[in-house]
Amino acid sequence: KAKEAGRARMTCYETAMDAHREERNALELDLRRAIEMEELVVVYQPLVDASSCEMTGVEALVRWNRPGHGPISPETFIPVAETSGLIEALGLFVLRKACEAARQWPDLRVAVNVSPGQFRNPAFADYVRNVLNSTEIEAGRVTLEITEGYIIQNPERTRQSIERLKALGVKVALDDFGSGFSSIGYLRQFGFDRIKIDRSLTMNVLEDGRAREMLRATVALARSLDIPVTAEGIEIEEQGRALQNFGCDELQGYFYGKPMPEAEISKRLAVQNAAALDEERGAAA
Ligand code: C2E
Ligand code: MG
Ligand code: MG
Ligand code: MG
Repeated sequence: KAKEAGRARMTCYETAMDAHREERNALELDLRRAIEMEELVVVYQPLVDASSCEMTGVEALVRWNRPGHGPISPETFIPVAETSGLIEALGLFVLRKACEAARQWPDLRVAVNVSPGQFRNPAFADYVRNVLNSTEIEAGRVTLEITEGYIIQNPERTRQSIERLKALGVKVALDDFGSGFSSIGYLRQFGFDRIKIDRSLTMNVLEDGRAREMLRATVALARSLDIPVTAEGIEIEEQGRALQNFGCDELQGYFYGKPMPEAEISKRLAVQNAAALDEERGAAA
């Protein structure tokens, strides 16, 4: 009897595994098609100067409205792209779109996320160079964001990849800092141009005294190493103010703007430029 029950459980478990595998395969198939058909969309989230709150850059974030399922998070499909060999095509698509879009915004920096699967490829820098050349964007306006996790596993390869990228003139930022266990002191040797503090740290800055002290110390250390710091995930004004006081020069979060279509960024930029022009006129008069 017990044996029977065991067998039943086993079967049930295997069925669940099969269902999971099938769903994953279907997801992969749909994603492959979405990349080929260019169904993915890139949205842009403002990066603002901490003291003026002016938009000085944008971060490109990929979106996918999966047919028959609705929008799914990049946190779900990026890992699938990683393990199915699709990440290179996906990443290249986002980079090209972002660089093309940035041509309309000559005063903005554009940040693009890079997956370990792209970064690991020795030819990645060549892809980046091709995109820079074909879109004719100034390399210095482009920041590639790399997450902390990969670096710790592969310090030597990371160093080489960063060197190749920086030789092209692009900037390299450390993304999601504070979500893992690394220290800025250790990461300094990689030559990051910027550090982005993960939302998991910034979200508690107002309520949690320990989180606040950790943040303060982290930003101070980065600044003592001359590395500028962006705080991400700012949802209310007081959080932004606190992080600015700690020394962050750049802020990002829903309070300053959600990820939005290209046209919305252009509109916002037009409003911002008009306001700046008014101010200049006012000063001149
Ligand atoms: P990330 O690079 O750390 O991007 C920031 C994420 O935080 C974005 O989520 C953004 O929408 C979200 N966010 C920004 N401000 C706030 C806020 O105030 N509150 C909250 N709750 N969330 C905020 P998203 O777009 O879902 O992307 C999640 C992650 O997926 C990204 O984290 C990045 O690691 C990855 N990702 C997104 N697009 C790409 C891409 O094109 N390529 C690669 N390789 N990864 C990507
Ligand atoms: Mg990022
Ligand atoms: Mg981030
Ligand atoms: Mg993050």
